[in-house]
Amino acid sequence: MLKNYKLFFTVSKPPEEIATEECIWCNSKLNKNIAHIISKSLLKTEHFSNKLYKSVCHQCNSSFGKNIEDWIFKYSPINFWINRDIKNTMKINDDRTFKYKKIFVWLPELNEWFIALNENSNQFPSQLFLNNNFEIIFFYSSKNKTTNKKLNFNLLEKFVNNIKSDNYSIYTSELLPKNFSPRIFEYNNTSIIISRTNDNADFFINIIKSLKIIESIEIKNIYPDQKELKHLIINYKWSRKKYYKYCSKIAFEFLSLIQGNDFVKNSEFNSFKKFLLENVKNEFSEVLFVNGRGINEKILTLGGWVDISNEAKISKKTIFPTFNLNALKDYTFSMILYKCDSHICASIKLFEFEPCNIILSDTSQDFETIHLITYSAKEDKLNFYETTADIENFDQEVIFVSDEQSLYHLGK
Ligand SMILES: [Zn+2]
Repeated sequence: MLKNYKLFFTVSKPPEEIATEECIWCNSKLNKNIAHIISKSLLKTEHFSNKLYKSVCHQCNSSFGKNIEDWIFKYSPINFWINRDIKNTMKINDDRTFKYKKIFVWLPELNEWFIALNENSNQFPSQLFLNNNFEIIFFYSSKNKTTNKKLNFNLLEKFVNNIKSDNYSIYTSELLPKNFSPRIFEYNNTSIIISRTNDNADFFINIIKSLKIIESIEIKNIYPDQKELKHLIINYKWSRKKYYKYCSKIAFEFLSLIQGNDFVKNSEFNSFKKFLLENVKNEFSEVLFVNGRGINEKILTLGGWVDISNEAKISKKTIFPTFNLNALKDYTFSMILYKCDSHICASIKLFEFEPCNIILSDTSQDFETIHLITYSAKEDKLNFYETTADIENFDQEVIFVSDEQSLYHLGK
């Protein structure tokens, strides 16, 4: 049984930067740059307390931008939420679906990717393909559930004849989803063969060319009769390592803002910084993202606590109190920062990502207060809160509770 503790926070004054000459990351005395702690694109407007003015050198600042932030903003699902909550450029329909551009859609019930078009009248164009079990299947989409063989057969016949007479164009891209079956479909009256590789396309073409009886091809209706299937699933790239680095960078810079630069310049943080600053080409994976409903959950973060420094001395008996940031639904960013035993702990939650639980480092320095930082895009407000509590009294999940003015809508 999870025990729930309640904890009261009060609004605190935004902390003031206490800088030293050196960069908090690399210790150099190079020129400083204004560093945004939470990336600019995650906030509606600039906020004074989201910046370090004299603490981060030009070089460290731009290397975080290039190596971590750019990648996350370009490839990961974070852009979905930026468009929805920060830029408000995405129109979400009542049933939580949204307008999309020409895209590839995964229909789990059919276990296949489909080409979808941004055309209401032709959302799923008919497509003839060779699936991973080497079956040739002709998919069409119609509200009418009884298969109209005659009507669809004409298009199927056209596809087969166009392939046999080499009357098509080919599009191949290795960026297509990994298990994408080669296929032919029609767009603007042109038959297009689409495939991940030329080999796959050739194989598909040869199979169709050697086909003797068109009637042997299976015909299936992909019209999604369940509402579930109308939810589009989009393919994104993901790197846990980059995301943990990104969250760790935010936590560390807020820690320096709160505690002053001397605190974070302590050599206790050296391994943490080394991990953050290393620049290796990270592997990434492809993730599925269900529109408006978060993501294939357990894939994106690791769930438990991650020791970023790789040097924390964690006793097996330690139970980290985990603050339930999921209760903070109204915020596009929330972070809790505290010391538990000798460990500096941070939980960071962005949009609807599962929170990242990070141990930044062990420290012998005092850090008594529990800090909470939230940003609400709706109100464009960055807030700082704090509370003092004996953290060792909490052995399970901690729930936030408001004291009227400070926090609201939190848990039960
Ligand atoms: Zn630096």
